[in-house]
Amino acid sequence: MFTCERCGAGLPPDRDQCAYCGTVSAAARGVLQAAAAGQAREQAKHAAEVAIVRQKLLSTLEQASSRALMWGLLSFAFFCLPIFNALSFLQFKRAQAAAREAGVAVPTRATVGLICSAITALCSVGCWVWMVTDIRADNARVDARKIELAKQIEAHPAGPSLDHSFACALAEQYVLSNGFQGETNTGSFRDFDCAGALRVSSGRAEMSDFKFKPSSSGAQQNAVICFKLGERWFVERAQVTGCALK
Ligand SMILES: [Zn+2]
Repeated sequence: MFTCERCGAGLPPDRDQCAYCGTVSAAARGVLQAAAAGQAREQAKHAAEVAIVRQKLLSTLEQASSRALMWGLLSFAFFCLPIFNALSFLQFKRAQAAAREAGVAVPTRATVGLICSAITALCSVGCWVWMVTDIRADNARVDARKIELAKQIEAHPAGPSLDHSFACALAEQYVLSNGFQGETNTGSFRDFDCAGALRVSSGRAEMSDFKFKPSSSGAQQNAVICFKLGERWFVERAQVTGCALK
């Protein structure tokens, strides 16, 4: 505590002028000014720190908003896989948190990204429902066809006669049951075309140009069906090359 240099009265800690004689104490003024300068420096430092944090928040906000939009738009390209719209949603939440903390509005592009990802999320659900329904319908169609073929084959008399329609039924049943060339997803096999000629030779037979599609979008397969006569005719194998009949 300082005292007045002239009259000796005590000065309060926040004053540099004597309340009695009005004398200004140079020592007290120096200390008070130094304290004020120190406080100002602290405030400036704090303000600078706050500005840096805010700058980081705003940069996070910008980045997250751009990514929310980017993933949102990309999700249209791959809408069956709900990956990009999930990423978009996460980036939107990040942008939203940064905006709230920085006290600014969420940028429009982040909102647009969110809307895109919401739309594609619905499309994704629709896509999966459609695919599952489609696969079930395909399997049901093939199961029904196999039952029908089994009836046709059953109705054919046993013995060495092998007519074209019986051979076709045997061939289709074989391919639908065993798959072809490693492709065993027979539920999607379709568009069978049994136009090839049948060649019979000593207990064996061959039918070329047995055509079908392994899926709705797949290329047409061209199989050669090799038959053998046992108790009755049956398909021995289906392949892409000839059966090498004697
Ligand atoms: Zn004084």
